Amino acid sequence: MGTNLPQRLHDGYRAFRSGRLPTEQSRYRELAERGQSPETMVVGCCDSRVSPEVIFDAGPGELFVVRNVANLVPPYSPDGLYHGVSAALEYGVTVLRVKHLVVLGHARCGGVQAYASNAPSGDFIGKWISLLAPVAASLQSRQPDDAGYLKQLEQASLIRSLDNLMMFPFIRSACDRGALTLFGAYFDVATGELSVLARESGRFVALARD
Ligand SMILES: [Zn+2]
Repeated sequence: MGTNLPQRLHDGYRAFRSGRLPTEQSRYRELAERGQSPETMVVGCCDSRVSPEVIFDAGPGELFVVRNVANLVPPYSPDGLYHGVSAALEYGVTVLRVKHLVVLGHARCGGVQAYASNAPSGDFIGKWISLLAPVAASLQSRQPDDAGYLKQLEQASLIRSLDNLMMFPFIRSACDRGALTLFGAYFDVATGELSVLARESGRFVALARD
């Protein structure tokens, strides 16, 4: 185990201490005293290019984020095993009472690509991304090298995750009483464009840049 952080992190922390921390000091103090009360939760991918806090320009205390490989929401399955994503959802919705819950997918997702190309997947990744199997089965074509197919799989998977969210009783009931709204958003890494899922049409509509 290391004791000296990588230089990049060291330098980054120094920049934070001298830049962002002083300007947001009162906010940090307030958050420390009163606890966090973010209004929005995001389920995102681990991908280093798709940081929700960066994309949504969020400050400390604003977003409650859980990230995992391929931004998947597993089905509700209270089986006594370890469920990190479900635990975060439970905390975000029942304890923090977030008002908005966004599943944030993205283009060129390595997890989705790994599934599509049957890449070797180690002890854990293969099992995790097998959550994509029913989604892939619902699509017509199956060409792992086809960018169009991968985008289709990424977006269909996002819709599946939104459906899975509604299997969680505490999420369904919060939605039913109007206390929580679900959203699907898709980030194009190359262009920086963000699209939002219109549930009626099932299409992702790019946010206007203004
Ligand atoms: Zn990803």
